Amino acid sequence: MSASSQEILVLGGGAAGLMAAFTLARAGKTVTVLEARDRVGGRIHTVCQSFTEPTELGAEFIHGNLPLTLQLLKQAGIQKHPVDFEMWHFKDGSLVQSHEFIENWDDLLEKLNSLEQDMPMSTFLERYFSGEAFMPMRQQIADYVSGYDTANITDASCFALRREWNNESDSDQYRIEGGYASLINYLTTEFHKMGGIILTNTQVKNIHWQKGSVEIKTIGGEVFTSGKVVVALPLGILQLNPENAGCINFYPEISVQRSAFNNIGFGQVVKILLEFNSVFWEKELLAPAAGQDISGMGFLFTNREIPTFWTQAPLKRPLLTGWLGGPPALAVKDFSKEEVLNLALRSLEAVFDISVRQLHEHVTAWDVVNWANEPYTRGSYAYDKVDSAHARSVLFEPIEATIYFAGEYLYEGPAMGTVEAALTSGKRAAEKLLGLYMD
Ligand SMILES: Cc1cc2nc3c(=O)[nH]c(=O)nc-3n(C[C@H](O)[C@H](O)[C@H](O)COP(=O)(O)OP(=O)(O)OC[C@H]3O[C@@H](n4cnc5c(N)ncnc54)[C@H](O)[C@@H]3O)c2cc1C
Repeated sequence: MSASSQEILVLGGGAAGLMAAFTLARAGKTVTVLEARDRVGGRIHTVCQSFTEPTELGAEFIHGNLPLTLQLLKQAGIQKHPVDFEMWHFKDGSLVQSHEFIENWDDLLEKLNSLEQDMPMSTFLERYFSGEAFMPMRQQIADYVSGYDTANITDASCFALRREWNNESDSDQYRIEGGYASLINYLTTEFHKMGGIILTNTQVKNIHWQKGSVEIKTIGGEVFTSGKVVVALPLGILQLNPENAGCINFYPEISVQRSAFNNIGFGQVVKILLEFNSVFWEKELLAPAAGQDISGMGFLFTNREIPTFWTQAPLKRPLLTGWLGGPPALAVKDFSKEEVLNLALRSLEAVFDISVRQLHEHVTAWDVVNWANEPYTRGSYAYDKVDSAHARSVLFEPIEATIYFAGEYLYEGPAMGTVEAALTSGKRAAEKLLGLYMD
């Protein structure tokens, strides 16, 4: 077993790891990225096979005018296009266009804004909106937090949610021409041009470290040494217990950081991609639409097994994407892809009054990704629990100027859990390592 020695190792070739590697290489460092999968990108996974156009199994939207993402796209000469946000709800057997989701929203925000002590959202609801009358509202909030934040109200922080809800705006949202993979390709190509090395199929298992020196052992028995390491692995991996084969072991143990990992929430999501032979929801005279023009439909909320779908509007692509987040995603954790497909078609059957069999006949390509079961991710993205701000402040600090952490979960701006968060965190970790980062 021979050890390969590097100046800096980056563990994980997702957006955070690649951004860290790219920043370090640009500063003249010799960097090697160790990536467990046979591809880079992590939760960015754009596929072309079987679908007619690039299709996002993971990240898809740019949620607003996010500075680092837009800057990189500009540098790379990659185009983006705006997304249509026309929302339709399937209610009482018909489709209605509406923005309103949650009853008593203004009361809820007012009460949340006056809260002085943080608590889990479910505790808050029990305390201030208890009783039968508020039941629908409590359910709507649980659904919203599951759907958007992929989180569980039993531990999601009220302060974090109120920050998110107070800052919600109808700001622009985009998709990337060619998919998010274009951005990953750009970072990878530039990194390679600067002499950077990416080793795929290289799953890290043990990290032996002391100040100024790191030895990494992989599942396959390879050994890599370096002076510093950027750990850009998903929170879901860093939260695994030692009994789990995918767990990363640190020698000596880093117990303060371990408990910090566990004080940040990591959600669940199942994403369903359904390509049809036509944009059937536009052209057929569908009973629930009752003659309304639904051609601009961006989002569809169903109240069914799969509660959320979206189209590619304004593009006329016959692709519907289903989304099941939070605890309901965990409930189908062990379902096969076919079983989840069936749930999606049943939900659409109810909305469009077209039988599952007919819908099936019109499907030309499909896929289901249950991210909780992905061995190198184990969930969706981070959300804040009550102690998360403190946990992040612990993890922002490198250990003995030797171990640096990066990942979407280490971000404090308005775009939590996103690619922007991952990129920003990777850049920050690299700059910290280079002594360039000012708090
Ligand atoms: C279904 C879904 C939809 C999303 N939609 C959006 C969206 O529309 N817009 C948006 O901005 N964000 C979205 N996100 C979130 C976004 O994808 C992530 O926040 C971001 O991509 C995370 O990047 P990361 O580098 O922190 O982690 P990752 O992308 O998870 O990268 C970590 C890397 O570490 C590797 N790894 C894991 N274990 C090991 C190991 N033992 N050894 C070596 N390597 C290992 C993984 O394979 C992976 O490549 C979505 C996420 C999901 C799951």
